[in-house]
Amino acid sequence: MKCYVDLHLHTALSPCADDDMTPNNIVNMSVLKGLDIIAVTDHNTTGNCEATVKCGERSGLLVVPGMELETQEEVHVLCLLPDMEHARLLAAYVNNAHPGGENREDLLGRQLLFDEQDRITGQERRLLLTAVQISLQETVRLVRAMGGAVVPAHVDRTANSILANLGFVPPDLEIYWLELSASCQVDKFRAEHPELNAYSLLQSSDAHRLPDILERTSCIELVEKSIPCLLAALRGG
Ligand SMILES: [Zn+2]
Ligand SMILES: [Zn+2]
Repeated sequence: MKCYVDLHLHTALSPCADDDMTPNNIVNMSVLKGLDIIAVTDHNTTGNCEATVKCGERSGLLVVPGMELETQEEVHVLCLLPDMEHARLLAAYVNNAHPGGENREDLLGRQLLFDEQDRITGQERRLLLTAVQISLQETVRLVRAMGGAVVPAHVDRTANSILANLGFVPPDLEIYWLELSASCQVDKFRAEHPELNAYSLLQSSDAHRLPDILERTSCIELVEKSIPCLLAALRGG
């Protein structure tokens, strides 16, 4: 079946995201836009995943717990996990690899934690938008060992992308999909990068604002609409 997806969404826990990127607003907007599956991928944290997963369960929207991890090479990668247990494990690991440094709320905005009623339950004080002390290779190994999938984010961008920072996708990495920005022309990108022909391409919004969440434009063929089927596809199974 065709599943329409947007697997790169930021909640208000990301300092650069709007404060109204709450679990309920994200789920309701995604349902309005006709999406089947979304993923919550805040910078270096999974703090709002559980609340958003619960909202999704109420609305019939499949919500994948995830994280946009910034590796020590300053490469952004989507880490998609099979369940909250593994999402919390990854978050703890990343937390231990945080280089330190406080969020400058006045410059970057607040980093808000919510429950499934959109009530603010806390604020993250450390700056989440920063490179952590985990290599790209280690990230892929770790997430795959948890049964998850890693998709390098916005590879068409000139900053914080695997192509911009490393110049290529290391062939020994167990990576099968690459993410393109919503504004990228897929055919043009394909033509310009014949060396990436073996990789499947996925477009996501990287939404930091509600209106930016994708409509039914990015689709993946799955056996059924479920997290195991989605992860199996992204893991190259
Ligand atoms: Zn990014
Ligand atoms: Zn992002």
